Amino acid sequence: MIPVNTPVLGPREKELLARCIDTGWISSEGPFVAEFEAATARAVDRRFGVAVSSGTAALDVAVSALGIGPGDEVILPAFTIISCAAAVVRAGAVPVVVDADPVTWNMDVARIEEKITPKTRAIMAVHIYGLPVDMRPLMALAEKHGLKVIEDAAEMLGQTYGGQPCGSFGDVSVLSFYPNKQVTTGEGGMVLTDDSALADRSRSFRNLCFEPGRRFVHHHLGWNYRMTNLQAAVGLAQLERLADTVRRKRAMGRRYAENLSAVPGIQLPLAGTDQAENIYWVFGVVMADDGRLDAEAVMARLGDHGIGTRPFFWPMHLQPVFRKMGFFTGESNLVNNSCVEFSIIFYTSKSIR
Ligand SMILES: *Cc1c(COP(=O)(O)O)cnc(C)c1O
Repeated sequence: MIPVNTPVLGPREKELLARCIDTGWISSEGPFVAEFEAATARAVDRRFGVAVSSGTAALDVAVSALGIGPGDEVILPAFTIISCAAAVVRAGAVPVVVDADPVTWNMDVARIEEKITPKTRAIMAVHIYGLPVDMRPLMALAEKHGLKVIEDAAEMLGQTYGGQPCGSFGDVSVLSFYPNKQVTTGEGGMVLTDDSALADRSRSFRNLCFEPGRRFVHHHLGWNYRMTNLQAAVGLAQLERLADTVRRKRAMGRRYAENLSAVPGIQLPLAGTDQAENIYWVFGVVMADDGRLDAEAVMARLGDHGIGTRPFFWPMHLQPVFRKMGFFTGESNLVNNSCVEFSIIFYTSKSIR
């Protein structure tokens, strides 16, 4: 069986975990948490990292730390994981979706401006599958309209855009350390920023918004989204191998591309853009919409051969939960839904050489 992903764990993870057990530091108060925050911030060229319990939690914290709430709109891709839109909705704001580029599968930056209204507060840029969002025009647009930028770099640790690390763009970036990401802590995530006030607010939201002076008196509602020392120990060991992980993922992506290039009726990921070489977090395949190959049938047949696959993300404007809440009612005709309905993913598993 070739699973979609298996984490690669080694002696260094064991060594750092053993240190947690030997010293008794297992909670979020342990020293590896701050070390992991600093090392991750360095890796993406940010001043501050705030480790949390998942990438989803990082999005909640980032949106709240920016003060986004009722009356605000946040522009984000239709084609992404639910955590992005859920963070906006949970903050009491309104998510506004932009269609995907059918070739890169990222938010089509040329279609953002038509969605900007006087209520727009922020753009959430989510890098999808392997290539970064076209950040230069996106940042220019944000600047022109005075909008905040949240960068979801969960899939893109180790990737760059125009030579600048993903995770370093905009006001605040988020990472996930789920096992299928380039660096894993089992479960985990991080908020990254260069703004010390934003970092302080993120730390507060992560930790129930305890007041520094008067503990157990609260002016805001936060969460317990703390990362444990055990998770940070694994993360530190993983981060030491990031360059190697990225090199291996790229090699696997190129191998899939070479071997599938002659197969008719499928669209493969772009090898790169002017700004970035594909990092192949996953290897997405879109089936031609000609009725010859049906994604579900292909997935079933690959499964029969012991090859694991996943469907693509299901777009936000078609999510029953959001339709029920009255969101996206005018968005039934985004043109690039087809990339969702005829698509499968091969993950570029870290463990396959
Ligand atoms: C994985 C992922 C997340 C969520 O991270 P979790 O740690 O699973 O909560 C958020 N955004 C994107 C783009 C992701 O790929």
